[in-house]
Amino acid sequence: MRIDKLLANVGYGSRKEVKKLLKSGHIKLNDEVVKDPKTHVDPDEDTVSVNGEQVVYKEFIYLMMNKPPGVISATEDQHDETVIDLLEIEDSVRNPFPVGRLDKDTEGLLLITNDGQLSHQLLSPKKHVPKTYFAVIDQEVTDEDVKAFANGVVLDDGYETKPGDLKILKSGLRSDIELTIMEGKFHQVKRMFEAVGKNVIYLKRLSMGPLELDETLELGEYRELTEEEIDLLK
Ligand code: URA
Repeated sequence: MRIDKLLANVGYGSRKEVKKLLKSGHIKLNDEVVKDPKTHVDPDEDTVSVNGEQVVYKEFIYLMMNKPPGVISATEDQHDETVIDLLEIEDSVRNPFPVGRLDKDTEGLLLITNDGQLSHQLLSPKKHVPKTYFAVIDQEVTDEDVKAFANGVVLDDGYETKPGDLKILKSGLRSDIELTIMEGKFHQVKRMFEAVGKNVIYLKRLSMGPLELDETLELGEYRELTEEEIDLLK
């Protein structure tokens, strides 16, 4: 990558401003002053500093959020706050977006990144990435439901789901369940329960592929993924 692009990306001003900064001799590449904006740098190998301060360049950002209810999983919305509005990150981080959607009232694990390739991998129907949800259901959930989900249920639009792994954690007038599904149809968990005549009254995503919600995150909080978590996802 060109050094002027790198410096502009991390917030040292426009390409024009960065050019001026380079000319003034304040930028070093591996301890040598560089003035040419076209100079090539390898962000993984080279060290760039501005007035002696090392520039930390990350191409991609990976955040795990515990999504709160009432917030939209999108980058923009006309009426409501979005998960991106909740982020307090530097302007230099380019175009973060949520990987997939959780409903406005759904809580839990949401990955936010600007790595389009990773997002594509996680969302591709061909990859069958499992997603596990905790839900509270408005009535008794039975072994019949477990069987029905294991066989796949027919949604309101006629689509027959792939098998879902339903575990009853507590059955009663209100039931607690965990459901793992390999697809991500619109409102899928809610519609699978509707298919067996029941309603989801609380929904929280616990995991997506190998990534598990960090339960120390309060609703609305987020943190960067660890290197280990990023490697697991890739
Ligand atoms: N299924 C739903 O019904 N809603 C979500 O937010 C996620 C999965």
